[in-house]
Amino acid sequence: MNETNPVEQYLRMDRMPHIWCSGCGLGTTVNCFVRALEGCQIPLDQICVVSGIGCTGRVAGYLKLDSFHTTHGRPIPFATGLKLANPKLKVVVYSGDGDLIAIGGNHFIHAARRNIDITVVCVNNFTYGMTGGQVTPTTPIDATATTTPYGNFEEPFSLPYLAESAGAVYVARWTTYHIRHITKSIKEALQKKGFSFVEIISPCPTLYGRRNRLGDGLEMMKFYKENSTIKNGADTREVGLGFKGQIVCGKFIDRERPSFLEMYNLKMSERLGSSYKTYEGIQ
Ligand code: SF4
Repeated sequence: MNETNPVEQYLRMDRMPHIWCSGCGLGTTVNCFVRALEGCQIPLDQICVVSGIGCTGRVAGYLKLDSFHTTHGRPIPFATGLKLANPKLKVVVYSGDGDLIAIGGNHFIHAARRNIDITVVCVNNFTYGMTGGQVTPTTPIDATATTTPYGNFEEPFSLPYLAESAGAVYVARWTTYHIRHITKSIKEALQKKGFSFVEIISPCPTLYGRRNRLGDGLEMMKFYKENSTIKNGADTREVGLGFKGQIVCGKFIDRERPSFLEMYNLKMSERLGSSYKTYEGIQ
């Protein structure tokens, strides 16, 4: 019997095999993302996926959707432009911790502050994979990287806390062990109006795992299984990650706040009265 994997219809199979290492968590995240798309029933021609640079940045090239592989750190401003040009689009940013939180960190906080109606999926493997394993703003204290051979000594960002503080309306964190939870959270994030954020802790066995003696991809997944606690609604000030420490997962934030365009329309109609027509993008 020649059965086709149901995920294949969402992938550019002509680009396979992918470049990701054996044991990398990225493929798992893509599988969950595609399952979430199936569950949402959003017409595929209304979804755009934007990635930056890095191993996660390759996701845009593998998805058979309107997808954009942009410059380093800039997927969020690119996605913002897409959303403002055509507000009917469902725009997703799919990138890594180095891309989104280091060079793109300013874009991340301001998009959350403005409550731009996009979904950001951040695959957090605590390292720059594609460029050789440098430290990132999420690398835990004491973890080593090529640029911190004696251990990182800079306090990392806790992404759920950063996202909530900046104004995100939906914030969740899972590991690649939690495949059903990831799928459910991405589905909820896609259906949420405003800036929604899903962090996925994911193994990079080739660089972060090997350098820190965390074992292969399977051993890292076992670590996630044995050291994760689900605490939906947890205070994001208390979900910071330590090196080889407990990983608190869950849906932390689900709240309502006017999105950027809702505020824009409200304020413009207050100013201009009945002469103002609701913003519908660039026609
Ligand atoms: Fe995955 Fe790390 Fe390999 Fe990149 S370097 S593909 S993040 S395992």
